[in-house]
Amino acid sequence: METAITRELAPNFAFSDRIQQERHIAVTDCYQCAKCSSGCPLTFAMDYLPHEIIRLAGLGQEELVLGSNTIWVCSACETCTTRCPNDIDIAGVMDYLKNQAVRTGRRVPQKNVLAFHKAFLDDVRLSGGRLNETLLLGLYMLRSGEGLSKFKTGALLEDVKLGMQMFKKGRLSPKPPQKIKAIADLKNLFKKTKA
Ligand code: SF4
Ligand code: SF4
Repeated sequence: METAITRELAPNFAFSDRIQQERHIAVTDCYQCAKCSSGCPLTFAMDYLPHEIIRLAGLGQEELVLGSNTIWVCSACETCTTRCPNDIDIAGVMDYLKNQAVRTGRRVPQKNVLAFHKAFLDDVRLSGGRLNETLLLGLYMLRSGEGLSKFKTGALLEDVKLGMQMFKKGRLSPKPPQKIKAIADLKNLFKKTKA
């Protein structure tokens, strides 16, 4: 899935300056070698390739990048960041753009990805700084609405059966994980990010 830009772009460097200030990533350093895109495993589902997102962000095309499918398809695997000969943290830019899209109330084209991010953070908060996979599954089902739709179609029963098999084989644990020691720091972190 690729999208061609057919109109002239008016550069707005305030946006790239903001990425530099808030995430310390210099997107304008990019020299468009496209090594990031050639290593990315998810380009088949993206509307703009990773090097195009970096270029667009460098030119301050806020509307285009924050409304793109690419930032939600990105799985944060960091292959691009590792491959960049210019030390640009492309995965970090994608993360920043996701955050900005949510903060500014943009339409999220991949709603389940956002539901997963929120379920993941809820899980870490509720499980004392660790990930409880069983809880994560439940939270994701609730947040995405998949639990209800699967319940209606009967598919939820198949998921429960699969879950039971995983319990038996030790792939899922019914026991909650041990809380981390720095639990006060974790609580502070969540408090700060909420504010
Ligand atoms: S690998 Fe780095 S320098 Fe090359 S296009 Fe991607 S971001 Fe730009
Ligand atoms: S972090 Fe995102 S953009 Fe980079 S290689 Fe992985 S999926 Fe592609």
